[in-house]
Amino acid sequence: MHSPTPTHRCYARVDLAALERNLGRIRSALPDDIRYISVVKADAYGHGLRPMATRLMQSGADAFAVANVNEAAELRELGHGWRILILGPALPEEYPLIFQYKVTPTISSIEEAIALDRLAEQKKQTLEIHLKIDTGMGRSGVWFEQAEALFETLIKCGNLRIHGIFTHFSSADSDAEYTRLQRIRFLDTLARFKNFDISTLWIHADNSAGLESFNEHSPFNAVRIGLLQFGLPPCEGSLLESLKTEPVLSFETRICLLKQLPKGTSISYGRTRELTRDSRIAIVSAGYGDGIPRSLSNCGEVIIRGRRCPILGKITMDQTIVDTTNLDEVAVGDTVVLLGKQGNEVITADEFAERSGSIPYEVFCSITKRVPRIYQTDRPAS
Ligand SMILES: *Cc1c(COP(=O)(O)O)cnc(C)c1O
Repeated sequence: MHSPTPTHRCYARVDLAALERNLGRIRSALPDDIRYISVVKADAYGHGLRPMATRLMQSGADAFAVANVNEAAELRELGHGWRILILGPALPEEYPLIFQYKVTPTISSIEEAIALDRLAEQKKQTLEIHLKIDTGMGRSGVWFEQAEALFETLIKCGNLRIHGIFTHFSSADSDAEYTRLQRIRFLDTLARFKNFDISTLWIHADNSAGLESFNEHSPFNAVRIGLLQFGLPPCEGSLLESLKTEPVLSFETRICLLKQLPKGTSISYGRTRELTRDSRIAIVSAGYGDGIPRSLSNCGEVIIRGRRCPILGKITMDQTIVDTTNLDEVAVGDTVVLLGKQGNEVITADEFAERSGSIPYEVFCSITKRVPRIYQTDRPAS
């Protein structure tokens, strides 16, 4: 186990055992025959692709999904045989890499199908693909009303083999009715694919928010899970609502300077805050250059010695100013929790996101590369 050292002024602890437990909990809440496609795009949502994917491989993931062929290439180095689905459209220049790294592209158009089929023919290979259907997200995928034509084309492409068909929900966490409409569009579209047995394919729609597709009659047999495995609580109303997941990442920094300042002193750039009392302020060793959003200026909180302390003034690139006047004791070197738990206090990714006007996805992706990720297998002793 690696512990933070004094050189770690700002770091993210990533608990691999918690990741494994989360995956186990999610899996055991889903029917046994559902394939688990672990979504590890954007460096596993900022947690670090390699350690996360390695642990997920050991913990029961069936396949992986990433955003693009670069991410797929990095993941491929960890092991052969794992299916890696690229969720987004590939650029034509990237097509050869799809073959080189043996990854599964997502196809949304007839042009992509024809170009990849031609390339597969040149290489004398059969390429497995997933067909994506746009049922109302307006992003990648073939519009559902045009899906039959693309499907017919794919059937005729002798060097392509359909391995899966999927769609993506735009509002799984906020609009059950629209999600139902998307689901119906998807199922109706599948029903129009005649003379082809789709029961052997991977059929998937649900992400972390929408896990509710499964009953005996539904053709869905796979899920694509990202955020939930990193410990965010499931959405209300989802099939897994009662599932308990644990946060995998905590974001911490240290106090590097303490000082007493008189009432009336203005704090940080732009003088947006004036002390209303004599104060003991702490300078903490992280700022927006590490991923503390500037929108937390004057409104964020941190945890020091198990108590919440407010952020004063504008967050700067490398330093943030915190009011510690209410603490009985405080010292240079103290750990400052930006995101995570200390004593009885906890700042969740949901709270952090809400205060900064963002979403947990962006919070994790915004922790910058200056911040070392420290991987631990077990929880620290304290
Ligand atoms: C990111 C993504 C997912 C994973 O979503 P979560 O909400 O993190 O579970 C699934 N499918 C697609 C197409 C995605 O882009």
